[in-house]
Amino acid sequence: MDRDDLPRCPCRPRPVLSTLHVNSAEEARLRLLDLGVDAYLVDAVLRGVLAQRLEIMRCGICSGTGCETCAECGVTERRLRMDLWVANR
Ligand SMILES: [Zn+2]
Repeated sequence: MDRDDLPRCPCRPRPVLSTLHVNSAEEARLRLLDLGVDAYLVDAVLRGVLAQRLEIMRCGICSGTGCETCAECGVTERRLRMDLWVANR
């Protein structure tokens, strides 16, 4: 994607980046429609969606109940999960 593919404002061309609260990247288009954005506008300008979430990884030794290895919290780490949806044009 280059600058010419991005939505434009009549005053000053610039890309529009935003955040939405949805469960997956594929749900972003439906959420925009739910918010009242016209379907033709969404389909004309939406180029892709990057969804991300943090997954809590339970301790492999105590299975989340707490032990010395996980400092009694049951969690050993958090991992970033990303989901990329790209419009098919
Ligand atoms: Zn543990």
